Amino acid sequence: MIPFLDLHRQYTGIEKEVKAGWEDVLAQTAFAGGPFVTAFENDFARYCDTKAASGVNTGTSALHLAMLSLGIGPGDEVILPANTFIATAWGISYCGATPVFADCDDFYNLDPGAVESLITTRTKAIIGVHLYGQPCRVDELRAIARKHGLHFVEDAAQAHGARYKGQRTGGLGDIAAFSFYPGKNLGAYGEGGGITSQREDLIQHINRLRNHGSEQRYHHDELGYNMRMDGLQAVVLRVKLKYLDAWNHRRKAIAARYLTEINAPGIKLPKVHPDADPVWHLFVVTVDDRDAFIAHMKDQDIQTALHYPVPCHLQKAYASLGYAPGAFPKSEYLAAHCVSLPMFAEMTDDEVAAVIRAANQFT
Ligand SMILES: *Cc1c(COP(=O)(O)O)cnc(C)c1O
Repeated sequence: MIPFLDLHRQYTGIEKEVKAGWEDVLAQTAFAGGPFVTAFENDFARYCDTKAASGVNTGTSALHLAMLSLGIGPGDEVILPANTFIATAWGISYCGATPVFADCDDFYNLDPGAVESLITTRTKAIIGVHLYGQPCRVDELRAIARKHGLHFVEDAAQAHGARYKGQRTGGLGDIAAFSFYPGKNLGAYGEGGGITSQREDLIQHINRLRNHGSEQRYHHDELGYNMRMDGLQAVVLRVKLKYLDAWNHRRKAIAARYLTEINAPGIKLPKVHPDADPVWHLFVVTVDDRDAFIAHMKDQDIQTALHYPVPCHLQKAYASLGYAPGAFPKSEYLAAHCVSLPMFAEMTDDEVAAVIRAANQFT
């Protein structure tokens, strides 16, 4: 069987380094926050070419804290794509603000042409998601944000190491949120998240918010949260960060083969924007008869997955926002027809060839 994702193969390659690092954490009992987290933050900020980084407990918290650091609160509106993982919207809602969804472009990312008409006097920010590992159209989105005095935020949860016009994600807007959920391109061995910014003041504020609103123990300057990163996770992430570029390179090679060798007429391949250098967290195709394609691949012993079968604006949790089917045709088409093919750095060439062969047998 060819799995959609196999985390075990990667683990066997770094097992010794991770265990040695964990011994240090255990010896120093540096479990919640602490020096191992700081060391990872420094490395990650350098990797993303940003001034600073903060390590937190989940990507969802990273989005929430990013919103809080920009002062977003009740009555405010934030524009985001309907085609994303739901957590992009949670961060807005947790602050008491309202998510305002927009449709996606041909690259499955937030369509800059759909944004401007949604701006009101309450709009405070635009969140561009670099979905599936492909940077969104940052220049156009930033220009709209600048024109209207809005913040531009990156949801880079799927795009560690991706580049836009040569520049890493994480430093392309006012602030960026990352997830280190185990299956992400840079994944912890448990939950994890991070925030990067070129603005050190925002990161300092987040470091206080994640730590009960406190800089000095038992003195709480504002309503805070317990959202620190674990020392054990920071060690895993710091080890993995050294290999991230090589792993992303391998993902790009697999994607290049899928893009050139899959040629079944019923399978529509993803498009890459000329300004984007994606890291292929996911390889998402669209197929009119999706169920038949999934069954065909399963018959060939190949796992597939769906990202994402229900667009955010049609989730029950957001029924109160009043969106109806038909609101965002491209996002809804994608939700109904997307299929993600196996994609992880440790796939063998034989497995890649088998996926291509099976896909090309689909009629
Ligand atoms: C994974 C993900 C998140 C949430 O991250 P968690 O670490 O799972 O909380 C947010 N946005 C996107 C686009 C994601 O893929």
